[in-house]
Amino acid sequence: AIAFENIEKNFSSLKVLKGISGKIYRTEVVAIIGPSGCGKSTLLRCLNRLETIDGGHLVVNGIDLSHPHFNHRQLRQLRTQVGMVFQQFNLFPHLTVLENLILAPCKVLGKTRKESAQLAGLYLEKVGLFDKASAYPEQLSGGQKQRVAIARSLCMNPQIMLFDEPTSALDPELVGEVLQVMQQLAAEGMTMVVVTHEMQFAREVANQVIFMDKGVVAEQGSAHEVLTNPQSDRLRLFLSRLN
Ligand code: ATP
Ligand code: MG
Repeated sequence: AIAFENIEKNFSSLKVLKGISGKIYRTEVVAIIGPSGCGKSTLLRCLNRLETIDGGHLVVNGIDLSHPHFNHRQLRQLRTQVGMVFQQFNLFPHLTVLENLILAPCKVLGKTRKESAQLAGLYLEKVGLFDKASAYPEQLSGGQKQRVAIARSLCMNPQIMLFDEPTSALDPELVGEVLQVMQQLAAEGMTMVVVTHEMQFAREVANQVIFMDKGVVAEQGSAHEVLTNPQSDRLRLFLSRLN
């Protein structure tokens, strides 16, 4: 579970998160939506401490990221428990798919190559890419790359998965295969926080939708409440522009 209360984040004089609060329960899928620059990526990056927060209280899986004595051991713990998938895949281009997948389990978890490769096979199978184990990223389509990136995250056996616009860099015809993998993960009970513009995915898969605007949570509730019954003009305008 994740609890954040009044969190603030500034980049020098720019206030990006201005007191954001929310709760994300285990097995819940949360969609974060909002206009460009409103702080969605920054919020997500705070959740696994790619950014540190400047104020407020943030607890992820029992780890208090706002504690003044937050230490390296906790950071390692956090990084293994929370996986993140980015818009731009971030695969290592000089490594095969299999090598991309076993790198972190070997280096961070101290598993043997054999153990890691077994695990990798399992997750490649899951995302439908078992036959691409020895391919290099450049030989894959965008959708395949993103599915590899998801499998790579899963190899760390995370309890929470963060997705930052995982389908935004893809050609439209490749979006579905990635969303399908995510939908399956959700159905299996993975806790997921997804920044997305895919409203149909949000509507069908998310338990909770958070609409951010200019660094605050402007609306928050069930997918039905937020997407079908928006309360503010801002959200109505935002939703109408997507369609
Ligand atoms: P988008 O939908 O375009 O991805 P976003 O909601 O994810 O937008 P953020 O990337 O969180 O927005 O950025 C929020 C604000 O913080 C923007 O004004 C951005 O320019 C600024 N910002 C983000 N990262 C940094 C950084 N490392 N240094 C300075 N400013 C930053
Ligand atoms: Mg962003």
